[in-house]
Amino acid sequence: MTDKYAQLVNQGPGRNVAKKLGLPQPAVLRRYEPGQPLINGPILVQGSTAGADALSAELLSWDLDVRRHAVPREKLGAIILVLDEVAHPEDLEKPILPAAASLRDLAAGGRVVTVSRPASDADSPAAAAARQGVDGFLRSLAKELRGGATGNGIILRDGIEPTSPSALAALRFFLSGRSAFVDGQFVTVSGTSGELAGDPDKPLAGKIAVVTGAARGIGAAIARTLHRDGATLVLVDVPAAGDQLAAVANEVRGTALQLDISREDAGQRIVEHAAQRHGRLDIMVHNAGITRDKLLANMDQPRWNSVISINIAAQLRINEALLSSKHFRESPRIVSVASTSGIAGNRGQTNYAASKAGVMGMVRATAPHMAALGGSINAVAPGFIETEMTARIPFALREIGRRLNSLQQGGLPLDVAEAVSFLASDAAAGINGEVLRVCGQNMVGA
Ligand code: NAD
Repeated sequence: MTDKYAQLVNQGPGRNVAKKLGLPQPAVLRRYEPGQPLINGPILVQGSTAGADALSAELLSWDLDVRRHAVPREKLGAIILVLDEVAHPEDLEKPILPAAASLRDLAAGGRVVTVSRPASDADSPAAAAARQGVDGFLRSLAKELRGGATGNGIILRDGIEPTSPSALAALRFFLSGRSAFVDGQFVTVSGTSGELAGDPDKPLAGKIAVVTGAARGIGAAIARTLHRDGATLVLVDVPAAGDQLAAVANEVRGTALQLDISREDAGQRIVEHAAQRHGRLDIMVHNAGITRDKLLANMDQPRWNSVISINIAAQLRINEALLSSKHFRESPRIVSVASTSGIAGNRGQTNYAASKAGVMGMVRATAPHMAALGGSINAVAPGFIETEMTARIPFALREIGRRLNSLQQGGLPLDVAEAVSFLASDAAAGINGEVLRVCGQNMVGA
């Protein structure tokens, strides 16, 4: 599960050989550690709207070093392009081009973040063109960045200010090392609810969270990350993984619930377990998932059914039980793990892609109900992540899967976990019904 190639080309003679041959040299990504600064270096806020002014003032209040104009040859930690008032594609030039020269000064692991409005049918054609233009611009720019730098965007629905809690939460996430493997992506803020955590290192303090499939891989990383961020945990996995589950539960001082999530009564069992120990539950993370790959021409019923049953039918049933329970009422949060296979499709994965696209459909359709409860439901769609699941892929295919993204490497389970924690936090309550890809800007079906 280690990326030996990346290790080789990042040290000693391997680095020089790779450089001479023009081979991919995946950068060591800047990842979050509690207590570290949000960003390494000054932040250039580009744009002349009231939103840009308000955002700059907010960043100054976070004690960050904010610039409103580029200073030639000064290393920058981040560039924020505030494009919230563009009404014609010709408006894009003024805020964007002056920042172009500064890209050379962006530090390794730096960030570019756009702040814009969604294009909608109600816009004039020119405004829709300008707003949609930000999408193509940002996704292309992200592909041009090097040295582990990333580019992502925040889209503010009309009426949402750039300084609304969830816009700021998204900005913190994108600027920080928590978003190391998120690249070329947009998050839409649609609500004004949410509150920034008093302690940014403990955004889940006091929360009770359930994580399924927590015995290993991404689920275990989610458990560790939610624990680090302050949550109390209930960890679920199949009885066959009981020992591994107990080990993770001990590590994060949570409780283990041995349970096959495809059982009819799984939702009731989860609610009962959480209610008995903690009186309630606040965060449900649907992570457990399986693959049973076959070309459709060779697909049999057990392969098809087990994937649909565990990856999506179980989530639907558990959500129903949770949402009809009085123990999941206070600003309840659901985060589901989907997959980029469900977006782009993948040969040999018709069953898996149907289940993961199904997760995204479920998330969108459940969002209004969650909003009515003051909560949210979102999905995280990982791309190639270094786990036992991907370690089973044949070597050549695995190498292709790893390198075919803007960061030229696989992500870590931790990277998925960081996105889950962000979406489960109080501050992100205004983000609802979204799918956030953690894929390093996967080129396949991007
Ligand atoms: P993994 O196989 O390493 O771990 C999955 C865990 O889920 C295991 O502990 C397993 O025992 C548990 N599980 C399986 N069926 C269960 C059931 N019926 N009830 C309870 N627990 C069950 O997988 P992973 O790579 O850590 O993947 C975690 C999630 O991320 C899955 O939903 C997967 O589809 C998704 N994902 C993974 C990748 C990747 O690159 N690894 C990419 C995209 C999406």
